[in-house]
Amino acid sequence: MRDDSPNSWEARADRNSFYGFTDLPSIEARGTVVVTHGEGPYVVDVHGKRYLDANSGLWNMVAGFDHPAMAEAAKAQYDRFPGYHAFFGRMSDQTVMLSEKLVEVSPFERGKVFYTNSGSEANDTLVKMLWFLNRAEGKPERTKILTRINGYHGVTVVSASMTGKPYNSVFGLPLPGFLHLTCPHYWRNGEDGETEAEFTARMARELEDTIAREGADTIAAFVAEPVMGAGGVIPPSEGYFQAIQPILQKHGIPLVSDEVICGFGRTGNAWGCQTYDFMPDAIISSKALTAGYFPMGAVILGPELADRMDAAVAEIEEFPHGFTASGHPVGCAIALRAIDLVLNEGLLDNVRALTPRFEAGLAELAQNPNIGEWRGKGLMGALEAVKDKATKTPFPGDLSVSERIANTCTDHGLICRPLGQSIVLCPPFIMTDAQMDEMFDKLDRALKQVFAEVA
Ligand SMILES: *Cc1c(COP(=O)(O)O)cnc(C)c1O
Repeated sequence: MRDDSPNSWEARADRNSFYGFTDLPSIEARGTVVVTHGEGPYVVDVHGKRYLDANSGLWNMVAGFDHPAMAEAAKAQYDRFPGYHAFFGRMSDQTVMLSEKLVEVSPFERGKVFYTNSGSEANDTLVKMLWFLNRAEGKPERTKILTRINGYHGVTVVSASMTGKPYNSVFGLPLPGFLHLTCPHYWRNGEDGETEAEFTARMARELEDTIAREGADTIAAFVAEPVMGAGGVIPPSEGYFQAIQPILQKHGIPLVSDEVICGFGRTGNAWGCQTYDFMPDAIISSKALTAGYFPMGAVILGPELADRMDAAVAEIEEFPHGFTASGHPVGCAIALRAIDLVLNEGLLDNVRALTPRFEAGLAELAQNPNIGEWRGKGLMGALEAVKDKATKTPFPGDLSVSERIANTCTDHGLICRPLGQSIVLCPPFIMTDAQMDEMFDKLDRALKQVFAEVA
């Protein structure tokens, strides 16, 4: 619904607020959706229209938009101690407890945590840690970061350099020394006649060749999402992490799991690295860490990197890094509550219970002749639109097919996200079967409507 009067919410949003990652022609044609509150997995706009948010906000509102336990944890901590830092040898009791909890629920037998306000800052912090400790160990040239095309790691200067998306060229990024390997998406990047096992082996050879070309002693880390999220929900090809990890180990290159989306249940286990059965050297967390109820990110170092970091810090007696709100006590109290809710009070169980229905729904919609592939893991999934299913030919970009599908869904009261030519679904963990059916019904109608227009 659009209100064109000069004092409408839509006009006021336009006048004084920038939009991040927003298709401006869609805004021009349709106006901003200004939301006021939420009810379970639904959000409500200023006109009272309800939308089922199949994207959990931005992957993060896994407990829905009005969970009483989350609001209660926040209020209680605001009453107790509303803010503090983690500098100069001080930190809040909540911060101490959250670090214990994060190490306990991590795949590591021991480790250490550094807090940030976002996933981007957590990736920047990780890179600074590695640069810092490599210098302290007398290897200042060990600076390069390997990631993959379509990997998403954030928007700050370093994390945007890690992100493997072409849009960053408008900023003159990536910085030198950030290298992007092939996206391990077999359906799209497999060659004619190549089996999935051969494709995975090719990905591993590319890594070997890259290390040989660049020199292992110039590479600080390989950073990867278990399932690529903002790159289009792309699970790795079969055996991918098992193929690359030994190569990294042979060359002493840490494997960092960017679990900002996968972490805390999204793929059906606490961590994506557990779903794909590999042990990383460090974990990056954010988003569901606080169920979206507070901005927070964390770098969790496993035993070896934690020890090396401790030794490097001991040498100069300080790690000169930190954010004013790192380890904020309200954020930590909220994260403690969110972790309990997800891991111990049924949300992760519900992810597992809903997954078969979710996968069946995606598979059914993928019968559509203009859907080339469905893919996903746990409660994250995508449908990729194609003009020609047999040849996997995409629609012409100027048709903005995925934007049209997402906009049509919005008309039907469903929020889902266009990503390239795909539509992404990552529902909150509190969804019911009925809400899952509502989501697929609305998406089905939108797909049929838009494909009838463009196909
Ligand atoms: C969202 C995301 C980030 C960046 O987190 P922000 O909080 O938006 O800075 C980093 N890595 C992954 C995998 C993400 O999905």
